[in-house]
Amino acid sequence: MQLFMRTAHELHDLMMKKEISAEELSKAVFDRIESAEDKIGAFITRTTENAFKRARAVDRQIQSGEKIVPLAGIPLAIKDNICTSGILTTAGSKILSNFVPPYSATVVERFDAAGAAMVGKTNLDEFAMGSSTENSAFFVTRNPWNTSKVPGGSSGGSAAAVAAGEAVCALGSDTGGSIRQPASFCGVVGMKPTYGAVSRYGLIAYASSLDQIGPLARDVTDCALMMNVICGHDQLDSTSAQYQAQDYTGFLRDDVRGMRFGVPEEYMAEGIDPAVRAVIIKAMERLESLGAIVEYTTLPHTEYALPTYYMIAPAEASSNLARYDGVRYGIRAEDAEDVIDMFMKTRSKGFGNEVKRRIMLGTYALSAGYYDAYYLKALKVRTLIKEDFDRAFEKYDLLLSPVSPTTAFRIGEKTDDPLQMYLSDVCTISVNLAGIPGISIPCGFVDGMPVGLQLMGRHFDEGTLLRAAYTFEQNTDYHKHYPEL
Ligand code: GLN
Repeated sequence: MQLFMRTAHELHDLMMKKEISAEELSKAVFDRIESAEDKIGAFITRTTENAFKRARAVDRQIQSGEKIVPLAGIPLAIKDNICTSGILTTAGSKILSNFVPPYSATVVERFDAAGAAMVGKTNLDEFAMGSSTENSAFFVTRNPWNTSKVPGGSSGGSAAAVAAGEAVCALGSDTGGSIRQPASFCGVVGMKPTYGAVSRYGLIAYASSLDQIGPLARDVTDCALMMNVICGHDQLDSTSAQYQAQDYTGFLRDDVRGMRFGVPEEYMAEGIDPAVRAVIIKAMERLESLGAIVEYTTLPHTEYALPTYYMIAPAEASSNLARYDGVRYGIRAEDAEDVIDMFMKTRSKGFGNEVKRRIMLGTYALSAGYYDAYYLKALKVRTLIKEDFDRAFEKYDLLLSPVSPTTAFRIGEKTDDPLQMYLSDVCTISVNLAGIPGISIPCGFVDGMPVGLQLMGRHFDEGTLLRAAYTFEQNTDYHKHYPEL
């Protein structure tokens, strides 16, 4: 198999055995980027020099007989809404098309300390608002399994890069499904950690009560290794939880005997493509054959999840995005008559249509006279949704569902109909509203396109999620399929 398609843990072993050097690995990945990028369009910025510098440093360590940590020298892609000191960070928006942050996000610092070789910054829907990466202000990213289809979103560049061999692993952010859904569409592993498990310092905020950073990887082991790097308290993020991060690889045991899985019937109902449903049912049977107990259950407030999310997320976004006014960050309109005119022209030119739509929705929902009827009501329903999960987890260790009602859709198919686009988030947003962890793992194909299986767990129970995901993976071979480019 090609070097650029191998997992981080395999590559680590090859480096330790001195069968390959980190520099050779970076070279293989950049050659791949050179040949694939025209078709895929995963990267907004490539950080070639940075990657080779890192790789050479790791090679020197290996040469001098030092032991290197698991992700040292591994080519890593970073979603372009995560700040990187001295490196362009656009959030996929014209308004930040010239923004070079003076500091790095905590997760970037941690990967740096682990010796990872950042290869570039990946494309996304503007400010992470979207489900297809088509809302990027710059270009569309294509799905490596079929380049007429979307890679999902908003972390579409990160997922496509990993699937296409343009990076070994990647970081994304997930506010309503933006790691899990592109992972599912591109046939890779993607995890949204518990709210508070990973520092968001340096993540360009979309909806702060929902945003989490998390890994995209080629298998569950790589996902666990990435979690080891990024999890844990950070005093720079006041929402980061005070908890002892663990060694997640300790949970990678091939065993789900006696584990109880609940399958919310609302997630398997009308609206889910029957072919996707059939793949999920096969996955349920597989887990049963491995000794798990799999039963249908209910999350009765599921039908309110979409309207609740599309009230709360835009409300928070309208507030978070108020800072882009041409004064401190990004572009400034030149031809303004006065300050107010400058604000208006900067924001009119700088933001794309979807971002404007959400700022208007959010501002409306928060305005005096409507606040109680919309925003406050949504917060109350959010609590009901969370309580559905609390009840389900009294009985089940994990919940199981599709990640998305369909496989990847065609580029352009939903761009004229925002509501259709929002509906594609129906299986992922509740996890964010409840703050719990969720993972997408490859579980089959429909017409040659990958299908993701979603597992959802209790707060801070990433260990159980990883164990079940690992067991499923070890007993199937979907993660070993690669797209032909
Ligand atoms: N698709 C959802 C939205 O548009 C989720 C995006 C995300 O998780 N960042 O808001």
